[in-house]
Amino acid sequence: MEFRLIDRIRERTAQGRDDVRLGIGDDAALLAVPEGQELAVAIDTLVEGVHFPRDTAPADIGWKSLAVNLSDLAAMGATPAWALLALTLPKTSVESTQAFIDGFAEGFAQLAQPHRLALVGGDTTSGPLTISVAVHGFVPPGKALRRAGAKVGDVVLVTGTLGDAAAGLYLLQHASRVEAGDARREYLIERLNRPTPRLAAGVALRARANACQDISDGLLADLGHICAQSGVGAEIDSAWLPRSSALLGLFDETSARDFALSGGDDYELCFTVPAARVADVQADLARLGCGATRIGRIVEGEGVRVREPDGSWLEPGRRGWDHFAA
Ligand code: ADP
Ligand code: MG
Repeated sequence: MEFRLIDRIRERTAQGRDDVRLGIGDDAALLAVPEGQELAVAIDTLVEGVHFPRDTAPADIGWKSLAVNLSDLAAMGATPAWALLALTLPKTSVESTQAFIDGFAEGFAQLAQPHRLALVGGDTTSGPLTISVAVHGFVPPGKALRRAGAKVGDVVLVTGTLGDAAAGLYLLQHASRVEAGDARREYLIERLNRPTPRLAAGVALRARANACQDISDGLLADLGHICAQSGVGAEIDSAWLPRSSALLGLFDETSARDFALSGGDDYELCFTVPAARVADVQADLARLGCGATRIGRIVEGEGVRVREPDGSWLEPGRRGWDHFAA
């Protein structure tokens, strides 16, 4: 039974790569790291009811479990190659397990294929629905983007728009607020379920950004990590936060600002570059489709401060999603 499930996953995620010497089926995969490359590795776990709502479609779970990992590689400026998948599945009927696996593998493959990512192994157990994906990517030695490295005077930028995923989750949890079928509502929920890892942007930022991180726990929390690891502070302007027309169309300014500052799950990149490079970087990221918006600058000191349009400093009440909060 377990073996047929693994076969279903293998068939649906097949990806020919010369550097996979031995894929799914043995006790371990055998992989050849290309000469002259460093290996970047990351792992992330998604737990049902914690990292995605209970009734999320299996294909969306498959997409998202890979996307959050590819986003970590993007933040390092690495190019993805291989993944391992640990699946913990509740004991239900064979039919519903197969339907879940088929949907899951389809969503996973939709994101894996364009990036030529090969699933090379994993583990399958039973228990509460939990998905761990480990990804492996390549980066030229010494060229990876790091959280440490932001310098006083750097400009802070983000790709894409912020707050959409958190707003999508809010709309799922407050179903009566906006009618199902509203295009703006569907857009925000799509951003929650199918985040876009900014891999091409990460590669373009190599050798240009002084610091970079992906936004999984909210801008304030994640830019806070860049500041802490770089020994600097940051000042951002709330009026500059890039927000989608869907978000601004369905929420007032204060809610949209709070989603953008503290909402998690956007998987955009937040990075710092010397002022002289900003225009070049923005032109390149515009060409790549995600764009990059300047939201503030790196200053001496510590922590992230947020300036309101009237010039006052915002007291942030929420500091990003804390998994261990009561
Ligand atoms: P072992 O007991 O030796 O760890 P398993 O029976 O768990 O082997 O797995 C058999 C093969 O199937 C291995 O190559 C393993 O990597 C692969 N595999 C198991 N579960 C998954 C999964 N969820 N996704 C992809 N490959 C898997
Ligand atoms: Mg074994």
